[in-house]
Amino acid sequence: MPLVDKFGRQITDVRVSVTDRCNFRCVYCRSANPENHMPSRDLLEWEEYERLVRLLIGMGIRKVRVTGGEPLVRPGIEDFIARVKALGAADVSMTTNAYLLAERCKRLAAAGMDRINISLDSLDRDKFERVTRTRTFDQVIAGIDAAQASRLRPVKVNAVLVRGLNDDEVEAFAAFARDRDLIMRFIEFMPLDADRVWTRDLVVPAAEVYQRIAARWPLVPVAHERSETARKYRFADGRGEIGLIASVTEPFCGACSRIRLTADGKLRTCLFSREDHDLKPFLRGGASDDELSEAIVSIVMNKEPGHRINQPDFVAPSRTMVSIGG
Ligand code: SAM
Ligand code: SF4
Repeated sequence: MPLVDKFGRQITDVRVSVTDRCNFRCVYCRSANPENHMPSRDLLEWEEYERLVRLLIGMGIRKVRVTGGEPLVRPGIEDFIARVKALGAADVSMTTNAYLLAERCKRLAAAGMDRINISLDSLDRDKFERVTRTRTFDQVIAGIDAAQASRLRPVKVNAVLVRGLNDDEVEAFAAFARDRDLIMRFIEFMPLDADRVWTRDLVVPAAEVYQRIAARWPLVPVAHERSETARKYRFADGRGEIGLIASVTEPFCGACSRIRLTADGKLRTCLFSREDHDLKPFLRGGASDDELSEAIVSIVMNKEPGHRINQPDFVAPSRTMVSIGG
């Protein structure tokens, strides 16, 4: 049973959120005020994740990205990654804030993880601490160092640009990619923040980022798969790469190959879905693998054509990024 939606898009990637907990409070993601976490009894157990991933791989999923919340705060993540690899996932990756990465990187690589994406929204310590509302800059840089020294390189570093906050650092981030020979990815701010501060004016368009970097260092396009979120460029004169993720200004929904599984067992066919689909009643109610697979196939069939951020009647989903899994 391959996973194909009614528009003919084949689903090959799943983002698996393993927790809604996080040790940071990034301004564009979580709230400064304590939020309610999902009740522990609602969180999927590792065995439940494993069963779902096994079925999804049987339906053609090739890429599994572990995310959250912060995936490294959930004990047992290395074992889970090893099991997902053993189930036959071609590509297993993680998105992390890297606070705990320096001490965990070796075990993650040994577990068979293929790639890593690290979030870093400022190269300026004070600003970094304002964005994440933590004093963790040194640990995050140490995490990047550890990843670069491991077989997880080339490391991808993600920055969400927010106008007036860190958009003055575009060129500095590009220089960081060149100096460190890594892939620096610029993500447009999406209306998924808990404090609901998002406005279109705060989005820094990918086209602007491209122009600013290309004005300084000539860029050469790098081939990418159609379903990839990033448009990729290398520097004509040296090391490093950049990726532009224009989710708001140039949506790539037509080639989307992704679904998402939340930490409380909801299947989401889009980041911006207005509803999600609870798989827990199947997992905890004695459904057979066939019944579970059939449910997943029919949910995926109805994947929405695309997000509607640019439509006048757009309404942000009730779940925010930290409880979906980015
Ligand atoms: N805690 C991990 C981290 O920060 O890398 C993984 C989870 S985080 C939700 C996944 C990705 O979503 C990060 O790259 C983060 O920067 C991005 N993100 C969070 N809120 C966002 C927003 N409102 N718009 C765009 N990207 C966002
Ligand atoms: Fe936590 Fe990642 Fe959200 Fe920052 S972006 S608050 S690190 S989940």
